[in-house]
Amino acid sequence: MKSWQLIFILLVSVSLCVSQSHGDEPTFSIAIHGGAGSKPHLMDAETKATYESAMKDALTQGKAILESGGTALDAVEKVIVLLEDNPLFNAGQGAVFNADGKHELDASIMNGSDLSCGAVAGVKTVKNPIGLARKVMTETRHVLLATDGAEAFADQLGSDKIPRVENSYFTTPKRKMQLERRRTKRKASQASPPSSTNPAYVCFDDPLIGTVGCVALDKHGNLAAGTSTGGMSNKRFGRVGDSPVVGAGTYADNKTCAVSGTGIGEEYIRKSVAYNVAAQMQYANATLENAVKDNLENRLNPNDGGLIAVDKDGNIAVGTNTAGMLHGIADGKGQFKVAW
Ligand code: ASP
Repeated sequence: MKSWQLIFILLVSVSLCVSQSHGDEPTFSIAIHGGAGSKPHLMDAETKATYESAMKDALTQGKAILESGGTALDAVEKVIVLLEDNPLFNAGQGAVFNADGKHELDASIMNGSDLSCGAVAGVKTVKNPIGLARKVMTETRHVLLATDGAEAFADQLGSDKIPRVENSYFTTPKRKMQLERRRTKRKASQASPPSSTNPAYVCFDDPLIGTVGCVALDKHGNLAAGTSTGGMSNKRFGRVGDSPVVGAGTYADNKTCAVSGTGIGEEYIRKSVAYNVAAQMQYANATLENAVKDNLENRLNPNDGGLIAVDKDGNIAVGTNTAGMLHGIADGKGQFKVAW
């Protein structure tokens, strides 16, 4: 085995953390992520602490919903709305820019009890894309609405249900700087073709992270998953990643698990990563831990991204094949942790 392969395997296994469920009493579990590719060693202590406190706050609120008997879907939506409203993250306010200097946002949510799901792609004026995704799930017969069609659906629901903003609401100075850095890099390597290993096309050589996701098991035994993002900085306009693609960036099925991914969306779509975790559990009897590990080690490429997942018994698995992934986990047994 080559030394880089060994380092990669060690990286994945070290970052894979698993929490076990105990007994049969109704319990709950929740995991959240704030994007793969985090490089905490490049951050100053204050920035790190700000991210951690935002994650703790969101985790606390998600946990409170589950603890009091609320649904996994409500917990997932609430956590993601909080992170979308926080300009630190690449979701809602704070979303990255596309190559045209605009923000196009994607989100999805899935209910493991009946496989109902909803998603929106390329929305430009919806303050909380996860809220609109949930309405697509509950108030249409469709799964995914994109761009103008999604905006028209939001118009129809009204701004009291779906708050609207100017596209500039999503702008933050750090994302402007990130776009400039990315444009410069892109120019410098125009000769090389797009690929997931060409730094000009990936966002993970940049310490600004921030796609958000949440997976939860509630006390009624229902699983839910959701993911929200501004996508990849300097993406082509109209580009849609994995986050609103059910089966790629998000999946939930009460028979197995709930999954949210973060990373190079094209790879998650090609490999149906979120669904594959569930499928390995259902058809190959894999444990949650092994299914997550297999996707990170054997299906995705090194540095593609990370996953959070919770299974029907309340086990939690968190892993990444990037330098880090800001995440948090909590459960009914008193576990509560935020880490990179
Ligand atoms: N997966 C997201 C996308 O490709 C990006 C990310 O997770 O950072 O749009």
